[in-house]
Amino acid sequence: MIGADGVLCDLTKTLAGNAAEVSCLVKAGQDPHGMKLKPSQRAELAKAKLVLINGYNLTPSLKTAKTNIPVVSVGELAVPSNPDNDPHIWHDPTQVVAMSRVVSNKLKTAADNSAAAGIAERQSQAAAILRDLERWSQTQIATVPEKNRVLVSKHKAFGFLANRYGIRELPVMDAYAPGGALRPSSLGQISNAIKTSGTKAIFAESLPPSKTLRRISRSSGIPITSGQLYPDGLAPGKNLVQTATTNVCTFVTAQGGQCNQEQAERLSARWAALS
Ligand SMILES: [Zn+2]
Repeated sequence: MIGADGVLCDLTKTLAGNAAEVSCLVKAGQDPHGMKLKPSQRAELAKAKLVLINGYNLTPSLKTAKTNIPVVSVGELAVPSNPDNDPHIWHDPTQVVAMSRVVSNKLKTAADNSAAAGIAERQSQAAAILRDLERWSQTQIATVPEKNRVLVSKHKAFGFLANRYGIRELPVMDAYAPGGALRPSSLGQISNAIKTSGTKAIFAESLPPSKTLRRISRSSGIPITSGQLYPDGLAPGKNLVQTATTNVCTFVTAQGGQCNQEQAERLSARWAALS
């Protein structure tokens, strides 16, 4: 058994094909930052042949789990230059390409020799799809008027998406209320920042939106999106590529751009056909 967290679970399953059994250590939609391991997961981890985690402290509880083998922090090997130690590295598809190289190398070592060629082939196809995903995202985001290319969220999770595609990121709670408590003075600052940012919407990171986010929306007069962004891993029932295209389309549509759903579906079908 091979264990993996976050979007790494789908990446590892896709690259492994039938060469290994891959177990997801974080469920889709679950908060990786605060997750606690269940006894059954501890038992599974103790037997694992390979444990791949995102790293940069995405899942603190996995970092310290007891295993027979060293836990591999894939993101830290794939993206060594990360000045803020931001764990949300997969929002930039070019960084997922780098992660796919690390994962395929680790899989080749852990699996039988006969599986190596298949793993290498799937890695090169996965990298091609991820590069197409990057170009597709670039094209969709370019349809958003420049003044609206801003992403207002609660927690700082979309820095790599923002950097890759030329979006301004405004994570209001992390920027103005880092302790998590929303004081009247910080609410005023947040409202001002949102009103002057050019955004048409505030992006929910879970549904229903939290009380804090609703207060911010009421005070700033800017609506919360009806669909949510997925900051911390896979969207329930969706693969890595679908999660990424869903995030891009939610952003683009809310900010007055156009999203090509048909092309998005073709990308995720290509990805699904790999494994
Ligand atoms: Zn996060």
